Amino acid sequence: MTRTVRDCLAEAGPSFSFEFFPPKSADEDRLLWRAIRELEPLRPSFVSVTYGAGGSTRAYTIEITEKIASDTTLTPVAHLTAVGHSVADLRSIAGRLADAGVNNVLALRGDPPGDPEAEWVQHPEGLAYAADLVSLMRAHGDFCVGVAAFPNGHPRSPSLDSDTEQLVAKFRAGADYAITNMFFVADDYLRMRDRLAASGCDAPVVAGLMPITNLGMIRRSEQLTGAPFPAKLGARFAAVAHDPKSVRAMGIYETSKLAERLLEEGVPGIHFYTLNRSKATREVWANLALGARL
Ligand code: FAD
Repeated sequence: MTRTVRDCLAEAGPSFSFEFFPPKSADEDRLLWRAIRELEPLRPSFVSVTYGAGGSTRAYTIEITEKIASDTTLTPVAHLTAVGHSVADLRSIAGRLADAGVNNVLALRGDPPGDPEAEWVQHPEGLAYAADLVSLMRAHGDFCVGVAAFPNGHPRSPSLDSDTEQLVAKFRAGADYAITNMFFVADDYLRMRDRLAASGCDAPVVAGLMPITNLGMIRRSEQLTGAPFPAKLGARFAAVAHDPKSVRAMGIYETSKLAERLLEEGVPGIHFYTLNRSKATREVWANLALGARL
């Protein structure tokens, strides 16, 4: 059995962790493993591998997680979604992960395949919400289970209050911790933490950050969060849009500043969306390590 994220978060000091996605080609596969090997010496608390909306990358998520557990010193977390799976499928995946010594899972509902904005349709023999998957994983065995949190609210939540209620429901179902969707303004995270505290919940919520290294990533972040990129920050990037090097430097600086503020505010951990590249994450990490924050 590998260490659990619960153990990492119980230790003194903030956790820091990296997220990867399963590649779709041999070239992408090489990039992924290069990034993993380059980030391994930083000794992250854990690394996580996302679960695709469908197709062959789903099996590959499980393979990569198993390989990280067997071939590296890293603690892997396998993402798992309810999309297109019956309860029997989910139980069988849980069994395979447990057999491979992967005991950390991030339990997600997932988005409708093809069009993330389409209406969510539950598998006829499957689960409706992430909280149900949390319960299933906890009932299955000794899994440490994480869930998703949304500082700006999930795009489908009717209000921030209902979003908070559903996050609390995931903790009540047995989640050990949450990782946030990417966000760019510290106050968005801090307000979410206040809402949770007002609901009597003090479970650890790790902050998910993505360093912007080119302007295309701003558009991509809007697709992934369903929220507009913060206008003030967008204007600062727009002012240097003619110079890709300055855009990149600004992205590293802004992410370092955001992480620094969050650490001052006592976040339990920082999770980097690496997009299977190591350089930007290593630069932000070095800025924080230099400030002796991690
Ligand atoms: P849920 O918690 O089930 O919430 C979905 C929506 O339903 C929310 O609006 C919620 O408020 C509402 N809701 C929940 N319970 C109820 C209820 N009982 N009654 C009424 N409404 C309810 N997607 C992938 O496909 N693969 C991944 O690997 C992946 N990794 C992710 C990692 C992180 C850190 C994050 C933040 C997101 C990730 N996602 C991933 C995206 C995620 O699957 C989508 O955002 C999805 O739409 C919501 O998933 P969830 O687990 O938050 O769902």
